[in-house]
Amino acid sequence: VPLKPGRSLMDWIRLTKSGKDLSGLKGRLIEVTEDELSKHNKKEDCWICIRGFVYNVTPYMEYHPGGEDELMKAAGTDGTDLFDQVHRWVNYESMLKECLVGRMAVKPIAAPKGGLLHILIFLQQIPEVQIVVYKYIFFSLLYFLFYSYDWFQTDSLITIVIYTKQKDMNAELVIVDCQDKQLRGEIIMDDHSYLIGVDLDHAVSEDVTVNIAEKVGKVEIILNKKENIHWKTLGQPQEGHNTFIKRTDRGLFYRKCKLVSKTEVTHDTKLFCLMLPKGTHLCVPTGQHVYLKQIIAGTEVVKPYTPVLPFLPLDFQEPPCHDGVHIYLMIKIYSHGLFTQALDHLQIGDYISVSNPEGNFKKSQVQTSEDLLLLAGGTGFTPMVKLLNFALTEVSCLRTVKLIFFNKTEEDILWRNQLEQLALKDGRFEVQFILSQPSKDWVGKQGKISSSLLSEFVKRSRKDSKVLICICGPAPFTEQGVQYLKDLGYSQEEIHAFTA
Ligand code: FAD
Ligand code: NAP
Repeated sequence: VPLKPGRSLMDWIRLTKSGKDLSGLKGRLIEVTEDELSKHNKKEDCWICIRGFVYNVTPYMEYHPGGEDELMKAAGTDGTDLFDQVHRWVNYESMLKECLVGRMAVKPIAAPKGGLLHILIFLQQIPEVQIVVYKYIFFSLLYFLFYSYDWFQTDSLITIVIYTKQKDMNAELVIVDCQDKQLRGEIIMDDHSYLIGVDLDHAVSEDVTVNIAEKVGKVEIILNKKENIHWKTLGQPQEGHNTFIKRTDRGLFYRKCKLVSKTEVTHDTKLFCLMLPKGTHLCVPTGQHVYLKQIIAGTEVVKPYTPVLPFLPLDFQEPPCHDGVHIYLMIKIYSHGLFTQALDHLQIGDYISVSNPEGNFKKSQVQTSEDLLLLAGGTGFTPMVKLLNFALTEVSCLRTVKLIFFNKTEEDILWRNQLEQLALKDGRFEVQFILSQPSKDWVGKQGKISSSLLSEFVKRSRKDSKVLICICGPAPFTEQGVQYLKDLGYSQEEIHAFTA
């Protein structure tokens, strides 16, 4: 929602550094009971609990990008689930550290008298304990059914083998980071993640190889020993090692990437090329985004960005070579933008933290489509880049691919030339530019996203053809677009909206 002037994230960071007592407790930390928390449920006195820590968010109200009403939904309660649903990636610990009131008090439970058996029987009757126990048994079973790992060595190599027993295992589902004797290997399986995290016994070189036997789901991580010595163990387990848990319960992992180039795309948008560290194996799947993290004025700030390709390949015969080393980001630099201004000030050779990929788009959504329609607003074009490439290269049943690209002015259109070239080259692809603030010379379409514009351009190639419509842009653009599409009779399953 639009915030009042002087209420940007930078203004908030300044306030947190001003020395003002933002928690209202003059630096004291207290234990907060549920009863106490529930009393602070008003705009002028609002406490919220996130992951067991209670924050006085009253001074933050006017600075919340999602608005005061959104924040009030969690007033006086545990807001962890709501927070995770909306923006799990936001670094609240850093942003709200001056608002910290204290920890939630542990609920006292009257312990039963008697021996261990009585205590166990008693515990088993508490619903929360039952849920934890069942969850534990369930996930342990899942883990043993699906995962196990093993390792062996030769004179020069250490090989770690994970048997995922997944038929559709592929390189995008395996993320490995090996730096400074620390190994982290994460395997993604739907909404779960399996982790190997070890402080290695001895040093290894920076080259890491990942081999995947897709049909049987076997994953090999191969490390090169620095010294030709026999390892007694693989190393010391880190926190979370050998666990199989929900992805949302696993914290975001970041690695430092080097900025290797920065090229102009339009007057305000640049293509940033980041290089992954040598020991990292990471491929960002089509339709997913990463988070970038920078320290700005002493506060950690995190923002999502969707990787693109270095250019739109015109020859769609072969999938473009993903070198596995570079990540390309097309980013609009806002003149008052906190994060993008800091990003624009990075020099070639500087480092920035990049997270593991996230997102709920699945390639299978396109794989059975006959018509693919892409509605993009401004930099909402970014997820469409890999999607276009994937659709035209690998989806044989596709008959038409249409991009309807909304921008303010002609100067704002990203990769216009490349898109026009592609439309000339591939008969299945068509692009329509629509401007909301055109100059008087513009002879193309103009207007904002609307029901009439969509009914003109969004059409099935045949009466019953299977269609997928993907939409991405400013939040209100996406919300309105989805509503218009539904009003035009498209079903929820036929629409994918890219959001955070
Ligand atoms: P901010 O400081 O947040 O502000 C940016 C500008 O917007 C300022 O001019 C400000 O005045 C205005 N503004 C800020 N908040 C509001 C508001 N509530 N109402 C009205 N105006 C406001 N961007 C890209 O360029 N490329 C991408 O690939 C990309 N991928 C994304 C993927 C996802 C999943 C999401 C959710 C967003 C993506 N974004 C992308 C947007 C990006 O995450 C940032 O929001 C953007 O870069 C602005 O960050 P900033 O800190 O510079 O701007
Ligand atoms: P922009 O230039 O401000 O706008 C692009 C087009 O969208 C313009 O035609 C603009 O028309 C229209 N538009 C803007 N706000 C609108 C609204 N409220 N209702 C209807 N139409 C509207 O866009 P931008 O600065 O590049 O911003 C791109 C947005 O995409 C950002 O918000 C970014 O977060 C989002 N994004 C999301 C993802 C994701 O995966 N979720 C990925 C990339 C980008 P007007 O003349 O009316 O402004």
